[in-house]
Formats: sequence, C-alpha cells, structure tokens
Amino acid sequence: MDLGIAGRKAIVCAASKGLGRACAMSLGREGVELVINARTADMLEATAEEIRQETGAKVTAVACDITTDAGRASVLAACPEPDILVNNAGGPPPGDFRDWDRDNWIAAVDANMLTPIFLIKATVDGMIARKFGRVVNITSAAVKSPIEILGLSNGARAGLTGFVAGLSRKTARNNVTINNLLPGPFDTDRFRSNIQVQADKAGVSYDEMLALRSNDNPTGRIGNPHEFGETCAFLCGANAGFMTGQNVLMDGGSFNSTF
Ligand code: NAP
Repeated sequence: MDLGIAGRKAIVCAASKGLGRACAMSLGREGVELVINARTADMLEATAEEIRQETGAKVTAVACDITTDAGRASVLAACPEPDILVNNAGGPPPGDFRDWDRDNWIAAVDANMLTPIFLIKATVDGMIARKFGRVVNITSAAVKSPIEILGLSNGARAGLTGFVAGLSRKTARNNVTINNLLPGPFDTDRFRSNIQVQADKAGVSYDEMLALRSNDNPTGRIGNPHEFGETCAFLCGANAGFMTGQNVLMDGGSFNSTF
C-alpha cells in the first residue's frame, strides 16, 4: 500500500533504537524526509546511516535530550515545519510510589507528558495552515491497563492522553490528526532489561522469563518493533485522516475485552 506521504517531512523523537527507530525506518521506507533524535550522538548517527542505507531517505540526526527546552529547540531548528511528528522519550523508572518525591514526578511529567505537548504546540498551527499533519504519540499499554510498579508512567501518560483527547477534535477539520500508539511488550533494549530484572527477582534465567512472558500473550510471542513502526507509518498516511483521537493498542490481544 502506498501511504501517500513521500516527500513529507517528519520529526521522530528518541529514535536511535527500539520503537522510535522502527517508526523512523518505516517512514523512511515511505520516502519521508527525517529528523531523528536521541541523546547518544554516535549511536544516533549510526542509526541515521542505517536508515539512509536501507531506505534511501534523507535523514538528519540531532543529538540532544528531547525533554529539555534546548533539546526541543534544536530539533525544531532542524525541521521547523514538520508534516509528521512522532513523540517518544525514555519511560520513567519502575518503583514504589512511597519513594517518589516531587523531582521524580516532575521528571516523569516532563518526559512523558509535557515534552510531547510542547512539540505539538510548536508544530500544530503550521500543520493546520498547510492542511496536513499527523501526530503519533508513543505511550504505553499501561495507559489502558495500569502496571502498578510503573506508577510514574501510568500517571504522566494518562495526562498526555487526556490532553490529546481534547485537542485532536479541534485539529481534525484541517486534516491534522493526533493519535496515541500504545505498545505492549516489544522486543527492544528496554524490554530486554526489564525481562532481566524480572528474571533475577524470580530466580530464573532470562530465557525462562522470556518464555513465560511470551506464553502469557495470546500470540505466544513478543512484538517485533518492525510491526510497531509499520502501524505508526499507517497512522501517518494520507488516507488515515478520518482516524483521530484514538488510542491504538498493540499488545497481541493481551488486554482482554470484547471491544
Ligand atoms: P529503548 O529501546 O530503550 O529506546 C529508547 C530510545 O529513546 C533510545 O534511542 C534512546 O537513546 C532514546 N531516548 C531516551 N531518552 C531520551 C531523551 N530524554 N531524549 C532523547 N532521546 C531519548 O526503548 P523502547 O522500548 O523503544 O521504548 C520507547 C518508549 O515506549 C518508552 O517510553 C517506553 O517506556 C515505551 N514502552 C515500551 C514498551 C516495550 O515493550 N518496548 C512497552 C510499553 C511502553 P539515548 O538513550 O541515546 O537518548
């Protein structure tokens, strides 16, 4: 399927590895011009080169912390008029809410609520004026089905979800959609390190814990980041303009409900 977005410009945040990288790769395959970001410069540049080699897309790498004002300014300077914005950042650490002070909460809200909101604020009026815009926020299945030890993530991402629910209805008239993509378990570095922690706690090997988690899922496996990237690209497609304000859950059917 041709998504009809060749030649469009995209910012993909937190994209040197994992889900962000997969989204950038899928958009690159569609002929989208990319600005990608992460904090570690050499890994980011290596990813930019891989995307160029695999897709032929023009890729600009901007190494910075997207959760800071200065970081966002440098990404926006590299792509002042994006047609597509994929919001992403590292997730907050797990823990017990009794241990979290104001600074922990502010860091989580900064990264997983305010950073996407400020990037939307900086870009959405240009999208409205140009009558095309696609915003995809990478959030988490934990927004729909909370994971107790990820309270910082559950809380901060729920704030973003509420904001998007309102704004997305205001921008749709001008062909600007805003959707959230909610990953369940996907095979990334972050996921692998979580599996290791769970394995250590349970006194089993990494492979045993991975098999347990895979077995728990209706698909009998963990998600492949490529599948996530392709769904993100679909939401950014020219023909996805009638789909907005949605929370698209990609968890292999793990969330058990009729609809
Ligand atoms: P990952 O494999 O660890 O990749 C994270 C990427 O984000 C890296 O490129 C990292 O590069 C970059 N990054 C982190 N903090 C950043 C910052 N402040 N500024 C700019 N770039 C930053 O993680 P992932 O699994 O793809 O997860 C992506 C998001 O999805 C996270 O918020 C995570 O909580 C959420 N999620 C993932 C899963 C899953 O199963 N994978 C499930 C639910 C939710 P640098 O470290 O060099 O900056």
